[in-house]
Amino acid sequence: FMALSVTAACGSSTKTVDKKGAAGADSAKGALVGVTMPTKSSERWIHDGQNVKASLEKLGYKVDLQYAENDIPTQVNQIENQITRGAKLLIIASIDGTSLTTQLQEAADKHIPVIAYDRLLTKSPNVDYYATFDNYKVGVLQATSLLVGLGLKKEDGSDGTAKGPFNIEVFAGSPDDNNATFFYNGAMATLKPYIDKGTLVVKSKETDFKTVAILRWDPATAQKRMEDLITKAYGGGTKVQGVLSPYDGLSIGILSALKSAGYGTSGQPYPVVTGQDAELASVKSIMKGEQYSTIYKDTRQLAAVTVKMADTVLKGGKPEVNNTKDYNNGDKVVPSMLLQPVTVYKTNVQKTLIDTGYYTAQQLQ
Ligand code: BGC
Repeated sequence: FMALSVTAACGSSTKTVDKKGAAGADSAKGALVGVTMPTKSSERWIHDGQNVKASLEKLGYKVDLQYAENDIPTQVNQIENQITRGAKLLIIASIDGTSLTTQLQEAADKHIPVIAYDRLLTKSPNVDYYATFDNYKVGVLQATSLLVGLGLKKEDGSDGTAKGPFNIEVFAGSPDDNNATFFYNGAMATLKPYIDKGTLVVKSKETDFKTVAILRWDPATAQKRMEDLITKAYGGGTKVQGVLSPYDGLSIGILSALKSAGYGTSGQPYPVVTGQDAELASVKSIMKGEQYSTIYKDTRQLAAVTVKMADTVLKGGKPEVNNTKDYNNGDKVVPSMLLQPVTVYKTNVQKTLIDTGYYTAQQLQ
């Protein structure tokens, strides 16, 4: 009570005591923070987890960091366990954004604030904040890089000289990941005018989100779908010239299906294949001229803003957000902090990934 009146007397706007009962600066000290990440099968989540944990520990928090190998019941157990162990705040990068409603209710009942990390937690009022990238823009950038690769646009955004028509295929991410729809919507809005004019032709005619989505972002499923597309729509000398892929792991699967079908030679180059996350293997592939582009999302930045949010909430304050309209989770609009994604081409690997210290030149050799 004392602390409350002191705060009020100081009139500090950052120290407003949240009605959820976040405990104030003193009791935040050494508090346990539960951090759950979807999987270690993709590099980015390993970096995310390490960065969040290290930054929280630097501020004096205890951290329980868990990975669930894309298994929903495992993630459910991990979160329940963190609640039982007395976690004072949860940071969650979900596998299926809709599947944690019960655990989020348990957290709310115990006044444990929840931050959705990178992926929105949906169908629950018990999500306090969301830290992510501008996911719609990620999709716009992916599609724009596809247009650049085909010569329909230039890297500076101006129109290119190519005329088309070009054959393309479209992939989307996991339907239970809220981000996947944002990526897809941003990308399709960008491609639509070209598809409508006939400059881009989706030979398979498969463009519907449900049809092109790849459950759990699984590379092998994407590889299989690409093989099927080649068989079905690219017989008799017709070639695919562009593939919209929303994630580097899927791009690797797609490229290997293409390779098996004879693409990737001087007579028959790979189509323009996009990606996301700037994972090491894909950046190397870009440098070799195989994958065409990826989207760099600095996981160090995301970890930093999330930890700042967590620290502010744990000390009873109100964290900074920059978007309070776009992320409606079905129950409420979750106040969000959106970071900016950046397109990586072979031409700017040095500037985007090496000069920023994300990778060393040596790692990319
Ligand atoms: C993330 C992407 C990632 C994908 C697959 C999405 O939720 O935003 O960065 O490529 O999941 O892990």
